[in-house]
This record gives sequence, C-alpha cells and structure tokens, in this order.
Amino acid sequence: MYLVFIKMKNQTTTSINNNRVAVVGSGIAGLSAAIRAAVAGAKVHVYEQNSYTGGKVTSFEKDGFRFDAGPSLFTLPYLVDDLFKLAGENPRDHFNYHSHDKVCNYFWRDGTRFSMYPQLDKNIEVISSNFSTMEASRVADYFSDAAKKYNLTSPYFLENSLHKLSTFMTLDVLKVLRAIPSLGLFSSLDEENKKYFKDPKLIQLFNRYATYNGSSPFLTPGIMQMITHLEHGLGTYLPRGGMHEISQSLTKLALKLGVEFHLGHKVEKLTSVQNKMVGVQANGIEHPCDTVFVNSDVKHAYSHLLPPEIKRPKKTLKQEPSSSALIFYWGIKGSFPELDLHNIFFSDDYQKEFDAIQHNGAFWEDPTVYVNITSKLEKTDAPIGHENWFVMINVPSNQGQAWDDIIPKVKKSILDRLNQELGIDIEPLIMTEELLDPRSIERKTSSVGGALYGTSSNDRMAAFFRHPNKKSSVHGLYFCGGSAHPGGGVPLCLLSAKIATDWWLENDE
Ligand SMILES: Cc1cc2nc3c(=O)[nH]c(=O)nc-3n(C[C@H](O)[C@H](O)[C@H](O)COP(=O)(O)OP(=O)(O)OC[C@H]3O[C@@H](n4cnc5c(N)ncnc54)[C@H](O)[C@@H]3O)c2cc1C
Repeated sequence: MYLVFIKMKNQTTTSINNNRVAVVGSGIAGLSAAIRAAVAGAKVHVYEQNSYTGGKVTSFEKDGFRFDAGPSLFTLPYLVDDLFKLAGENPRDHFNYHSHDKVCNYFWRDGTRFSMYPQLDKNIEVISSNFSTMEASRVADYFSDAAKKYNLTSPYFLENSLHKLSTFMTLDVLKVLRAIPSLGLFSSLDEENKKYFKDPKLIQLFNRYATYNGSSPFLTPGIMQMITHLEHGLGTYLPRGGMHEISQSLTKLALKLGVEFHLGHKVEKLTSVQNKMVGVQANGIEHPCDTVFVNSDVKHAYSHLLPPEIKRPKKTLKQEPSSSALIFYWGIKGSFPELDLHNIFFSDDYQKEFDAIQHNGAFWEDPTVYVNITSKLEKTDAPIGHENWFVMINVPSNQGQAWDDIIPKVKKSILDRLNQELGIDIEPLIMTEELLDPRSIERKTSSVGGALYGTSSNDRMAAFFRHPNKKSSVHGLYFCGGSAHPGGGVPLCLLSAKIATDWWLENDE
C-alpha cells in the first residue's frame, strides 16, 4: 500500500490508495469518516440499514409541515465547513446557516418569562431586570469561567484521543494539571452553579446544559459548565433548510468524492482474521475490506457485529446510556409571537425530575418541556399562518417501560402546561401529529435503549470509559459516533470521526 504522511499545523493530510474502507452506518460521524477516508484516497463503501442517510439527523414532511426529527441545536458549524474545505470545496457553495439574535426563551409556572441572548451585555441587562444586579454581575464570571474550562480542556477531552500518549505530550498539559482544582471535576454541575448563583431559577437554567449530552445536572461533573460556552461564547445556529441539511449536504459531498452508499443494507457481521479486519457482511453478502469504521452504537457492535474472539471492554459496555426523549411533532394552526426558535418550560422541581429519570426509569409528571419551531426562521417549514412544533421531554432510555401507557399521560401533561402558559387550548390547533419515543429511536438507529447521546456523563470518569476511536488489539477497526470518544451531539460526533480517521492515517501501513 502506498502511503504518504505529512503533518502540518496540527492537521494530518495523508493519502492512502487502494485501502478498502467500510463504514457501518451513515450517522453524522459515519458520513464524516467516509468523507475523510475518501479525501485520503481510499475506496469507501457505507452500509446503512435505513433507506436514508444521516441517522438521527434526519427530517420528514407531513401535511405541508417539515420537521427535523432529531437535533435542533447546532453549534460549532466550522466542523461541517472543515469537511468541505478538506475536499477542496467552498462550504458556502453547499451548506449555509442562520445565526439567531436570541438564544432561548424560558418560562416558569409562576409567570416568570425570561430570554437569553448571544450578547453578554444584553444578558447582564436582562438578568438585572428579572433577577438582581448581584446575580447579573456573576453572569460575566460564569461565562468567562465556562470559556476557560472549554479552552483549557477541549484539546484533550474533545479534539484528540484520550487513549493516545501523544495527546498528553504537550507543555500545555501542565496548565490543565495546574487548573484541576478549579475545573469542577469533583463537584456536580448543580453544586458548581450554586457557587455562582443564588436564585433557584438561574441555577435551574444553567443546570439544563447537562441535558445537552443526556446527563443529570445533579450527577454530571461541574466541568460541564463548559457547554454554556458553546451556546453563549461560540454561538448557536440553524442550517438553512433545517438541521437535516447537515447530513444531506455531507451525503452529497461524499457522493461527489466517490463514496458508495449501500442503503437498506444492515451489517450483520464484521469479519476478522488473526486480529485483522477483512470484511463486513451485509444482507447476507460478504464484502472484503481492509478497514472498518463502526458508526453504530458500540454496545450494538459488540452484541451483534463483532466476532466473539474480539475482547469485550467490560467497563465501557457497562456504562449507563444517556437519557432518551419523547418527541411530539405537531403541525399547529396559528402563530405564537411569545415563542421563538428555542423555548423551555421549566418544571417546578428539577431534582425530582432527574431523580425520576435516573432512578425510577420513569418520567416525572411535571416534566420540563422544550418546544423548537424552525418555521420561525425557515418560513417554508409550515403553511402560512401555521407553525411546526417539535415538542420534547427528557425520559430515561428504554428499559421496557410501559410507553404506550406513559405517552398519553405525557401528552396531557404537556398540553396542560402549554395551555396554561399560552392561555389557549392547544389540542384543537394540532393539525397533524407524529411521535418519536425511545423504542422508535432504538429501532431506527440501533442506539441501545434509544439513548440520544450514547453514554451519559453522569460519572466524572465517564470520558475515560467511553470507547476509544481505535480498537488497539485489532488491525483496521475504528469507532466513531455518539457512543465512542468524545461522546454524543453533532459536533462531538464530527470530532470523533476526525480522531478516528487521523488515527487510521497515522497507523495503517
Ligand atoms: C430527538 C433528538 C434530539 C437531539 N438533539 C440534539 C441537539 O439539539 N444537538 C445535538 O448536537 N445533538 C442532538 N442530538 C444527538 C445527535 O443527534 C446525535 O448525537 C448524533 O446525531 C449521533 O450521530 P452518530 O454519528 O452517532 O450516528 P447515529 O445518528 O446514531 O446513526 C447511526 C447510523 O448507523 C446505522 N446503523 C446502526 N447499526 C447498523 C448496522 N448494523 N448496519 C447498518 N447500519 C447501521 C443506523 O441506521 C444509523 O443511521 C439529538 C438526538 C435526538 C434523537
């Protein structure tokens, strides 16, 4: 095999000719791995069990409404742009996005309504007028500490492998070691937030960021404060055409690079000989290959795909799944000026809500409700005079709960809450409805239990137990996606594919 390896400005550019790469799954990380491998010169085949690409990043249309089925919040758009640039394309010719002048609307039952913005000055002003000037003065410190946590640790925890010595062989690692006492590693996010804020509503608002990776604020470590920096420091966006444009534009790019997609092809088995990957079996047919990037859930891969002689990573496979969700997609007659792109209706007791998710495997009867309305920005997502509501609550992963009994109760509780907040009976305005629950998420993506983000970060060691991006004992076996390092969410999945393919480019010969 011909291999050229050039390391420039921390970016690996390699060309591997004749390497036959199989990618299992076309989630956002699978697409990214396929593009990176194709740019490096490999012959890439993507096997996807569904009839569409994108995994959780997909959409559907019903009765004139368009809905993004999965993610609604888009951060770090440069990670998508990087893939176009790597392929020698101008990202703006293929993929564009809105930035928005409001981060989120928040609603509490006592009538408090409050919005956050991408500008610090404006947030200080609105917090002063809704809470107190003392609380407002802490906001600047909070955001600056979140930025510090993010900037110090992301090169180690997000952008590189935690399982390679080279990640830690930099002088900057000393800065991180010195900062450990202030990183919030030994307190929960809730405890960390209480160091900054006194008002329970502000604590709840900043606790919510734990859900961005499917965790509980009462268990996830305080370092997760860094997630606020993604939203407030680096900005939130909505792709033009909706979230599914991320997966669709990347699919088009992959096709342009010669990647072959085998849709409707469920991989049943990965074959290795003497600890070297040699093929994938899909729809009963064996396809020879030299390298496999597994984009499916790690637990699914070990339970169903990998040969039994490959050693199981026990601690990793025992990790708790992230939370899942119940989502109602409602086409709504009318328009609601008090709602924006992102809206949160907080529960009265966040601790009880997360205890129920965590310990009872149940939903809390007063759940926090998230309403996302892309038609606020993308006018064609709903007919004139209508809105497309994506209405979501967090629930535990599927452990065999009686979802068919739970779902009508959840729907009633959501409707009661929205009726009260918006002062109107919502149910008659629902023109069309679809539902996604942990079972259907699992069925459509093979994510065990319908977990949204792979494994949770409810343990301070979670990052270290997440599956590495390379299986060190097997030649040519790599992992990318939400259940592998560095974890779930669109940006981290894109990073996981970069780490996995960089590793492949450095190692294979
Ligand atoms: C409702 C919801 C809301 C979310 N909100 C956000 C958000 O606002 N922001 C954010 O950043 N993230 C969000 N996420 C999480 C985000 O969508 C995921 O972390 C990310 O998209 C996962 O990508 P992935 O690469 O791990 O692959 P997945 O999307 O999990 O896809 C895996 C793919 O592999 C295929 N596959 C699996 N096994 C096989 C097999 N044996 N053979 C062939 N194909 C196989 C599946 O069919 C699937 O297409 C949300 C997710 C959901 C469901």
